[in-house]
Amino acid sequence: MELRDDYRELDEKYVMQIFARDLRIVRGEGAKVWDDEGNEYIDCFAGIAVCSTGHCHPAVSSAICEQAGQLIHISNLFYVPGQAEFAEKLVGITGLKGARAFFSNSGTEANEAAIKLARVRTGRTKFVAFVHGFHGRTCGALSMTHKEAYRVPFSPLPYECEFIEYGDLDALSDVVDSSVAAVITEPVQGEAGVLPAPKGFLKGVRDICTDNESLLILDEVQTGIGRTGKWFGYQHEGIEPDIVSMAKGIGSGFPMGAIVAREGLSFLPGEHGGTYNGGPLACAAGRATLEVVESVLPDVERKGRLFAEGLAAHTPRQIGLMIGITLGDRCAEVQRKCREAGVLTNCASGSLRLVPPLVITDEEIGAAVGVINEALD
Ligand SMILES: *Cc1c(COP(=O)(O)O)cnc(C)c1O
Repeated sequence: MELRDDYRELDEKYVMQIFARDLRIVRGEGAKVWDDEGNEYIDCFAGIAVCSTGHCHPAVSSAICEQAGQLIHISNLFYVPGQAEFAEKLVGITGLKGARAFFSNSGTEANEAAIKLARVRTGRTKFVAFVHGFHGRTCGALSMTHKEAYRVPFSPLPYECEFIEYGDLDALSDVVDSSVAAVITEPVQGEAGVLPAPKGFLKGVRDICTDNESLLILDEVQTGIGRTGKWFGYQHEGIEPDIVSMAKGIGSGFPMGAIVAREGLSFLPGEHGGTYNGGPLACAAGRATLEVVESVLPDVERKGRLFAEGLAAHTPRQIGLMIGITLGDRCAEVQRKCREAGVLTNCASGSLRLVPPLVITDEEIGAAVGVINEALD
């Protein structure tokens, strides 16, 4: 289909004006993208940490195309080709023995499933989450998202949720009791600007949950599928969640999400569902994505360190290929300078956030670091 030159006017007239947009990116390959004027960019944003295998990885594109020629949709009232195979692989990488998967179409829907599962299996109604935590925009997940600007205009929200300072185990143990269905947290707070959990924090949260028979939901929508240098963030701490939610990096941009819940923790027939969840295209994209990520995973932490060393003068926080630099009000200006010099970055809560494709090359990292340093100086 032909693209039109007056897309800005069209957008303004016909699309709800929610996002501040600038470029129109029309093509991508690996960690590079091109806009409609032919300008090239190194993509350190990856569509919000989504394009883990880079743009249009041939293995992913061909898996989607091949499946699209066979069966695009059939619903979950049939065995979906590739779904069980994908679930096996997904459960495998979580390391949770006897666990099972439930598929969704996004991160917020994955959390929605996790919340419903915790509510229905524990019989409890209260939740605990953390200051600056982000879990999505649908009403259940929104109940647990800290930012008032996102949450308060939509109250009343369905779940009672108490917010604790991230890292404060004493406050957490004061609040968690036998009325709490689950504690939900990110292993690294992403939308907050890449704030890794203090060492020992996740272990402490795990213990408090166990002591109170509350479930631990780890929201790995952003950190999961290799982003931090391991398949999941909790694997750095050697703990196991009751439920792990994932999305962003799982399908290389094909909309998909999932939860994996430990053995014995499952929805019963009729308790949850979805028309599109775990469809043939999503599972094809997901399976191809996991194969590619598996091959690059051993290199993720080393590549992240290249960023951290290159940007050391600006005290970055880095875990795998998640990098955050606190800038406050300067962030938008730095982001713009980077873009003008051919590097896409992002501002999250006043921090410059870099979440590039996991396949980014050393040479691209070097070039991006040069541009970012120049913009920061
Ligand atoms: C992006 C994100 C979500 C929401 O995912 P969507 O696919 O946008 O619904 C939830 N939790 C975390 C940690 C995220 O980064």
